[in-house]
Amino acid sequence: MVRFTVLASGSKGNATVVSGGRSRILVDAGLSCRELFRRMKLVGEEPETLDAIVITHEHSDHVAGLAVTARRLGIPVYFTEGTHRAWMRWLTPRRQMTYAQWMEQCRKQAAERQAETETAECDAVCEQEEGEEGLEPAAEELAATSEPEAADDPDRVPSRKEEPTWLPSVEYFQAGKPFEIGDIAISPFTIPHDAALATDLGYIPPNVKAQLKGVDLLLLESNHDLEMLRDGPYPWSVKQRVLSRVGHLSNEAAADFLENGYDGQAAYVILAHLSESNNLPELARVTAERALKGYACLLANRLLLAQQNEPLASIYF
Ligand SMILES: [Zn+2]
Ligand SMILES: [Zn+2]
Repeated sequence: MVRFTVLASGSKGNATVVSGGRSRILVDAGLSCRELFRRMKLVGEEPETLDAIVITHEHSDHVAGLAVTARRLGIPVYFTEGTHRAWMRWLTPRRQMTYAQWMEQCRKQAAERQAETETAECDAVCEQEEGEEGLEPAAEELAATSEPEAADDPDRVPSRKEEPTWLPSVEYFQAGKPFEIGDIAISPFTIPHDAALATDLGYIPPNVKAQLKGVDLLLLESNHDLEMLRDGPYPWSVKQRVLSRVGHLSNEAAADFLENGYDGQAAYVILAHLSESNNLPELARVTAERALKGYACLLANRLLLAQQNEPLASIYF
């Protein structure tokens, strides 16, 4: 049994909880830790039971709450190496990092993680002291985990509170190489978006079509209505990016895939990442419904729309 809960979807934040067997993962953390926890509790998911966070790509609508959430729960974060590097650059934008410096930073953080496990007891106390107030903002949480005995030592390695990129544990995966987190098997594949690996798509190339065969649940981007985007408020350069082959998938492109590239087998089709400026839920729904009409099976292709402002009820399959 798989439980699939979209907590948020759209350009202001994306996050989904997937549970299978005894394991539970958060896919993307594009909301604040507080909001993620609030929405999880709303749908009856316990944040404390999460085993790991998997990040699809480094755009802020997918990682905004990552560091605080991972630290708060003390769980590993799964990235591709490219996404991890891009995320670290995003948090330290003014510092150019050479590969050697990057390796050095990884080594330091690994050493610090080691030290952390050795002082786990102290941490447990800190966690209790933090209470609910420690959730956010990030600075508050970091300040609460002080290391008084090291404060006077001028040679000490920068501690957690000075390292915005510090994470309890980092694991790398690669596109094309399936891996497992507990009972959940994950098959990552590359897609065309201006990021390392993404739920967001510019268009649907053959390798993605192949990956989307035989799925029980299809979460498909339906970002914008082409006419609304063309006539809408975005500057021309942004319109060009959204429309490009590394941008976002339009309602029309999603419908074209549903009609011509998809096998019609999924029990649920969830339209996701809808633009608030260049789309209307009804337009996305009608366009997809029309495309799905040809599939006869009554139990398949139940159409849902993921929301930006509230979680979607959990789906079991
Ligand atoms: Zn993106
Ligand atoms: Zn996105």
